[in-house]
Amino acid sequence: MADEKQFVKEITPQSEDFSKWYLDVIKKADLMSYSPVRGCIVFKPDSYEIWENIQRELDKRFKETGHRNAYFPLFIPESFFQKEKDHIEGFNPELPWVTEAAGEKLEERLAIRPTSETMFGHMYAEWINSYRDLPLLINQWANVVRWEKRTLPFIRTSEFLWQEGHTAHEDEADARKETMQMLEIYRDFVEDFLAIPVIVGQKTPSERFAGAVDTYSIEAMMKDGKAVQAGTSHYLGTKFAVAFDIKYLDRENTHQFVHTTSWGSSTRLIGALIMVHGDDRGLVIPPKVAPTQVVMIPIGPPKSREPVLAKTNELYTLLKQAGIRVKVDDRADVTPGWKFNEYEMRGIPLRIELGPRDMENGQMVLVSRVSGEKRIIKQENLVQEVEQILAEIQTEMFEKAKQFREDNFTSVDSLDGMKQYLEKKRGFILAGWCGSAACEAEVKEETGATSRNIPFSPAEHKTHCLVCEEPALHTVVFGRSY
Ligand code: AMP
Repeated sequence: MADEKQFVKEITPQSEDFSKWYLDVIKKADLMSYSPVRGCIVFKPDSYEIWENIQRELDKRFKETGHRNAYFPLFIPESFFQKEKDHIEGFNPELPWVTEAAGEKLEERLAIRPTSETMFGHMYAEWINSYRDLPLLINQWANVVRWEKRTLPFIRTSEFLWQEGHTAHEDEADARKETMQMLEIYRDFVEDFLAIPVIVGQKTPSERFAGAVDTYSIEAMMKDGKAVQAGTSHYLGTKFAVAFDIKYLDRENTHQFVHTTSWGSSTRLIGALIMVHGDDRGLVIPPKVAPTQVVMIPIGPPKSREPVLAKTNELYTLLKQAGIRVKVDDRADVTPGWKFNEYEMRGIPLRIELGPRDMENGQMVLVSRVSGEKRIIKQENLVQEVEQILAEIQTEMFEKAKQFREDNFTSVDSLDGMKQYLEKKRGFILAGWCGSAACEAEVKEETGATSRNIPFSPAEHKTHCLVCEEPALHTVVFGRSY
């Protein structure tokens, strides 16, 4: 038992230092390694598998709504960026450039893509001729590079993996419908699959994507009360269509600019998952996204090892056939206690223990990672019980995260009120805002909190701006963020 305590101790408690806790957990759970290049990480198999599950599920939802995947090049000519003024202004500080190849200076610098609106714009101008070509609904899974000043594994890296959707439409109404549809897909996916409750809303102009007319986001609260922007959907109007001359012949035979959208979510979701659900013992992964949902651990003295193992393997096959992601740890050189700790730290949602006494009684013990609750079940009901418990765990994790967010959500009427709250507490703050960038900037300067979004369904409507006390144009969620 001594080594079990030691094992747990290596993770800094969240209450002591949340940032340290996060770095300890991802290191201990073997999720990543730092690369020698600043801000870039290696996604090791245990985190990459989470990403693969995210990809599979999101991809399914994209395809169900008519999108198709394609792959566009990594390098973007400098001239492409110059075509959309806001876009280059926003991205210029983060762009890495290729200036030389095969020992020769390139005629035109090539940016390594931070996002691909320009490359899609260039191609869409070629591909789109008539209204019959619309809507054009394409997504790509790719890596992108943004030379970030502040980095944190998964949450903000210089190179990250993501999907970016780029669509073109006949008119504003259709493009806006797409923008909202994709935002809703993100909300549903993050809440249902990752068990992370989010606030859905519109970004203020200062937080808008560079080159967008309107940006919408989903915002999640981490266990230290900070926000993570978990996905964004942009209505781009005709800005990129004008910049790249993407025109089509409409039903009346006149040339029109298309209306475009883009939307993205990234490996940041892995970081959010860790920070929303993890605890002092390590990761807690929701069953739907967990690469391993169930771990089976045979226990008992050496003399009963063979029959216990045989039974475990038999039950393992049943679970596997039912489509449950299960594994057996039958190592004889490690104690069950050590294994319990190991899989708790790795966040496997459900553990099954099977010993000689369970064999005699035709039962087994199920232990939930999130609640620690033990349940004894009949072996004959195994598949049904496991499926039900996994579903319960998924719901419980979502409810728990939602409760945490509610417990750390307040509402203020003044900047002083916000300051006082943030001195003692953490979390999101709902406040009225007049719509001026100056007032928004003052909030940031005075409190370190930024506007997360203008929620579609705020708990209440504020009447006046927290800074200037003029009538409120919007009710905004503020928070310190990653
Ligand atoms: P954007 O194209 O800026 O709207 O970004 C789309 C999504 O990618 C954001 O909502 C974030 O979730 C994610 N993202 C942006 N920057 C980074 C980064 N440096 N590292 C990881 N994910 C990022």
